[in-house]
Amino acid sequence: MSPGRATTRPVVVAPPHRPRPRVVIVGSGFGGLNAALGLVGAPVEVTVVDRDNYHGFWPLLYQVATAGLGPDDIAHPVRAIFAGHQNITVRLGLVTSVDVDERHVELDHGELLPYDYLILAVGSSTSDFGIPGVFEHAFPLKSLPEAVRLRNHILTVFERADADRSAIPDGLLTIVLAGGGPTGVEMAGALSELIGTNLALDFRHLDVTSARVVLVEATDHLLGGFSERSQHEALTTLRNKGVEVLLNAPLAKVTEHGVTLADGREITTRTVVWTAGVRANPLADLLPGEKRRNGTVVVLPDLSLPGHPEVFAIGDLAGSVDKRENALPQLAQVAIQGGRHAARAVRSRLAGKATRTFRYHDHGIMATIGRQSAVAELPGGLTLRGSLGWMAWLAVHLVFLVGFRNRLVVLVNWAWNYVTWDRASRVILDDIHRV
Ligand SMILES: Cc1cc2nc3c(=O)[nH]c(=O)nc-3n(C[C@H](O)[C@H](O)[C@H](O)COP(=O)(O)OP(=O)(O)OC[C@H]3O[C@@H](n4cnc5c(N)ncnc54)[C@H](O)[C@@H]3O)c2cc1C
Repeated sequence: MSPGRATTRPVVVAPPHRPRPRVVIVGSGFGGLNAALGLVGAPVEVTVVDRDNYHGFWPLLYQVATAGLGPDDIAHPVRAIFAGHQNITVRLGLVTSVDVDERHVELDHGELLPYDYLILAVGSSTSDFGIPGVFEHAFPLKSLPEAVRLRNHILTVFERADADRSAIPDGLLTIVLAGGGPTGVEMAGALSELIGTNLALDFRHLDVTSARVVLVEATDHLLGGFSERSQHEALTTLRNKGVEVLLNAPLAKVTEHGVTLADGREITTRTVVWTAGVRANPLADLLPGEKRRNGTVVVLPDLSLPGHPEVFAIGDLAGSVDKRENALPQLAQVAIQGGRHAARAVRSRLAGKATRTFRYHDHGIMATIGRQSAVAELPGGLTLRGSLGWMAWLAVHLVFLVGFRNRLVVLVNWAWNYVTWDRASRVILDDIHRV
């Protein structure tokens, strides 16, 4: 068309550009991942931020610490999960502040991420319950680097003992596990198997029967929250495996050389594993509003923050409650369902509809006590124990593990371990001289 010539075609005026609402999801754990998946294809631009570039499957963390699995068997890159989803962007970064008035979060490298909706799913952190020495001397077990560090340490103390037996009477081969919840019980069972099979063969000149696994628990039972029968089964099974279980034994102090119990008893050790205390991620302290005793954020029934209908807190960070106002446990299912709920709530808000109350559907609880032994308490009073419970435990963990490769690798590892008793990841990935 020549310049200046009039046209008879109608002029199409583009509508003013309206950017799509921005949703920022902090945390790509169980809650954040499911919130993001619930917003795939929604008319929003989602940014998922995490300090790590992977989604971690924490229920199997103890298997990394006990050389049953490698760290990347239970982790999946977040970018790979969302690669095919156009409206989801991934950002690696530690969120250091949240400004709910200006509606942005700040990352450690200085980037500001503005939002229209914010879903906070940063999980929990370790609490020392005020016990002196826990942070300085005990090994926590809440992340992959922590699990690898613990594995390095356990393997290294056996190396040290093999080279110089004189330190064995001073507790070099004593491992104290603090906390008789599912992680402490699972860890105790797996450790006794690791020591009794692989390490006994690896260190054939060492008398590994001198190694001790001691599980100390403050209350009079293991597996709080489970039925008495399951608690009893866990206790008997662990004792049969040679684990020393001390009940009614709260810790008073942890030092470089061991632990002191509240009744004055002392256990000399270089290895204290802290599985007991959990509190909300410290990011909770930066948010306005009330917090519960364990630091979790008090939320409204739809999981939004009081006074901030555009901000949601889910999973371990949130102090959400059930119909009877009882606090929901810090479990993967609570986070998964909370994430899906938050995504639905954002979609409702976008459509100008009211949000619904979050209702948690209890899928039961389970814990493995070692090879062919687990307790699974399912809804409707159905309880599976022993081999049946163990098979249910294996199946559920495989189903919820993210990524086909991870599932396959874990399945092959477990099958290998079942047939050969070989916990194959007995690799020290650290400078041995530091122990
Ligand atoms: C050792 C262990 C064993 C467990 N076993 C079981 C079990 O058998 N069954 C069960 O149901 N539950 C179990 N749990 C609990 C379960 O893992 C949690 O309830 C669940 O992970 C909570 O999900 P979430 O999304 O709230 O937090 P998480 O899954 O922990 O995810 C939080 C995410 O936020 C990221 N993040 C944290 N802070 C920041 C920040 N400032 N900036 C950016 N990113 C951040 C983290 O990197 C992480 O990816 C276990 C937990 C642990 C530690």
